[in-house]
Amino acid sequence: MKIPFVDLKAQYLSIKTEIDAAIENVISETAFIGGKYVKKFESDFASLYGVKNCVSVANGTDSLYIIMKMLGIGHGDEVITVANSWISSSETITQTGARPVFVDIDPEYYSMDIEKFRKAITPKTKLMICVHLQGQMCDIETIDKICKENNIYLIEDCAQSHFSEFNRKRAGLTGIAGSFSFYPGKNLGAYGDAGCIITNNDELADKFRMYATHGALKKHDHQIEGINSRLDGLQAAILDAKLPHILDWTDRRIENAGKYNELLSGIKQIVTPKVRPNSKHTFHLYVIRAERRDELANYLKEQGVETAIHYPTVLPFLPAYKYLNSAVSDFEIALKYQSEILSIPLYPELTMDQMKYVAKCISDFYNSDSK
Ligand SMILES: *Cc1c(COP(=O)(O)O)cnc(C)c1O
Repeated sequence: MKIPFVDLKAQYLSIKTEIDAAIENVISETAFIGGKYVKKFESDFASLYGVKNCVSVANGTDSLYIIMKMLGIGHGDEVITVANSWISSSETITQTGARPVFVDIDPEYYSMDIEKFRKAITPKTKLMICVHLQGQMCDIETIDKICKENNIYLIEDCAQSHFSEFNRKRAGLTGIAGSFSFYPGKNLGAYGDAGCIITNNDELADKFRMYATHGALKKHDHQIEGINSRLDGLQAAILDAKLPHILDWTDRRIENAGKYNELLSGIKQIVTPKVRPNSKHTFHLYVIRAERRDELANYLKEQGVETAIHYPTVLPFLPAYKYLNSAVSDFEIALKYQSEILSIPLYPELTMDQMKYVAKCISDFYNSDSK
């Protein structure tokens, strides 16, 4: 059986008429940049998410950069983020002129270790980017408290956590702003690059919007120099067509994760993902830790099951951050786990037969092992 890591085609086919009509409308009205489809998506997303402002941007990397720029982050500042994430969470810090400071992950939930976060704070720390990786939120309440005590801005990278919750509060609603990516493979994905910033602060929302559109909220009225980071009409219309389905798709991801938990429960060589109490893990990724991870991944590939690693080298040890001279002893857990983690296929359209097959392959791999 062939099981791709993501199956964007299956989702398209399930809503083909809606998507095709949305694309046709944008083209027939030539509403390519800005315009009513972009406005409509922004207001639909904000109202479904439960937030006052949604500022659409070109992608989920620009969104982080724009937030930090408009909060005045720059040279001489330190910004704390987590060691295990996608490079957007740290490269945007450097782009502002600030210095990224990485913190190790906690062994249970794979998010930033809160005690180590406390220790990383210095008088130069201005902001912390909390990354809700894999669909699982961090303990944002404790993090928020620490940030407030230390006068640090808190922003949330929600690129992998659309509609995730901690104590009934959605990702992106605790910090001063939340950053989202709508990259095609994300839980809510466009058919190209797309992203947005959410915030309940109207003044900041205007600043974000201004910076993303060349520093001008009205044409030719450039208050500052900005950048060009716009969501286009086609992506907006596609995202808007997907919006009525997102809560259902999210539920199906959670259901499928539950089925995997059962199917995989007897295999002692792997650790299945643990959900933080009082939280809603939306399983952007289903990440197991596995003995002999690389051999397992190869075996699965031979059996037609595609897997991925998020991420094979933690950020502080990428060539791009060699200049930081990070100490191995500061990233004990992140370094240990980078050779154990494996993301197996999980999406709303995945069938029970497919999941049974994946589980059987994993079990066969370890059984042949013991002989
Ligand atoms: C995908 C992702 C981003 C970046 O989003 P793009 O839209 O690809 O720029 C940022 N942070 C995390 C954690 C991501 O997974």
